Amino acid sequence: MIWKSLGRLFGVKPKPEPIFQDSWSPILEERVPLYLKLPEELREDLHRQVARFIASVRFEGCGGLELTEEMVVVVAAQACLLVLHREGEPYPKLKVVYLYPSTFSSVQTRVQPGGFMMESEVHRLGESWDTGTVVLAWDSVAHGSRNVRDAANVTIHEFAHQLDHEDGPTDGAPALASNAAYRSWAEVFRENYADFVQRVQKGKKTVLDEYGATNAAEFFAVATETFFEKPVQLHRKRPELYEELKEYYDVDPRQWSQRDR
Ligand SMILES: [Zn+2]
Repeated sequence: MIWKSLGRLFGVKPKPEPIFQDSWSPILEERVPLYLKLPEELREDLHRQVARFIASVRFEGCGGLELTEEMVVVVAAQACLLVLHREGEPYPKLKVVYLYPSTFSSVQTRVQPGGFMMESEVHRLGESWDTGTVVLAWDSVAHGSRNVRDAANVTIHEFAHQLDHEDGPTDGAPALASNAAYRSWAEVFRENYADFVQRVQKGKKTVLDEYGATNAAEFFAVATETFFEKPVQLHRKRPELYEELKEYYDVDPRQWSQRDR
């Protein structure tokens, strides 16, 4: 009560909850097949998070892309799958999403042997910066959204990196609730990453995309794509990794997959 009257005194109003627009439902139903797999209560969570996301993040079309409501909703929905149960803004550090029509070029700086720097132009489907920015190629976003069983989803991948940035270093560990959770995460991810890299080096088949062998941060992002799109296979091959992700994302996509069998 005291806070309420102080708020009134200083003219502080509680922020109104952003509203999920009716026009967004058909977009989710038609363009985001993962949405159709969600149980009813998670769909409601997703609606709330999508509305909050769109109210708090700026979208900009780049390279001649004219932004549409569909583009914004398809990006927001996939990003919010990763934070269905978060209070407040879904990505508090994220300020802007830049959308290109297709692959975009970006300058990559690498340190060469001998210490000199070399710049090269690379073509990308997506990027995540720790300054509150995500860059995406719309055709890849749409393709990743449409195909929900290939574990290739650039939006989920880049937003996993956003979560990784939140606690400082982009090292394959997002912000976790306790020291015990960090210890468990570190142990499970270290073991699974080492084993995975070995399998890739030996040319063996893996449930995770080989790109995950690049470093620990890419391993987490690739594991997240697989968790949401090939949950049954990931659980079968790497149950401990699956459990860590299930605990962190606070959802169990294995249950969703079974719904459409
Ligand atoms: Zn990545």
